Amino acid sequence: MTARFTLFLDADDTLWENNVYFERAIEHFYQLVAPAGGDRAAMRARINAHERRVIAEIGYGLASFTLALTRAFQDLAPERWNPEAADAVAELAARIAEEPIELVPEAETTLRDLATRHRLVLMTKGDYAEQTRKVELSGLQPLFEQVHVVPEKTAAAYRARVAGLAAAPAACWMIGNSPKSDINPALEAGLNAVLIPHPWTWVLEQDAVAPRPGRQFLQLERLADLRRHF
Ligand SMILES: [Mg+2]
Repeated sequence: MTARFTLFLDADDTLWENNVYFERAIEHFYQLVAPAGGDRAAMRARINAHERRVIAEIGYGLASFTLALTRAFQDLAPERWNPEAADAVAELAARIAEEPIELVPEAETTLRDLATRHRLVLMTKGDYAEQTRKVELSGLQPLFEQVHVVPEKTAAAYRARVAGLAAAPAACWMIGNSPKSDINPALEAGLNAVLIPHPWTWVLEQDAVAPRPGRQFLQLERLADLRRHF
């Protein structure tokens, strides 16, 4: 069989739930920082600012999330920061690592069907060990010809993967929930792209889609809709 297209697929919040676990942890964090209630928007802004900085320093992943929460706590409630608070913050992140992989509806049947006509490549960013573990637990790994965990999804990262596959960019599509990581850099690298918005998309992944002349862009409601287009 000759694959018609090479389909690159994002993993977190495209194939399985991810950000919802972080949002739950942040809800618990608010209670630790301000048991009597506090300004959630201000607390969230502080977390987001620390996440941006920490990610630039050490990359994505649970260690990074823990450090951002730690620094936010120390800013927001220095009088409450103590070894117990440090343990509670570490526990919030540790709990995320134990969450099961919850696939989005029809993930497996959709990929199984697409794999009969197209070459599938998983493209996820984050901590190598954390992302690899999720891919293994998902049971979806055998459906992918390649799995790539990259530190950041830049246009250069997409170009390198496309070149590694000896594929023409115009015959490649990137499919994911994040305009910032999945859509805009892929379009910049010459691929086509499919946005499948997820209601829990992380605030740091939100951005406006920047269309590029000559590239195709689709927006679909759910992963299973891919079967109608590919
Ligand atoms: Mg994603």
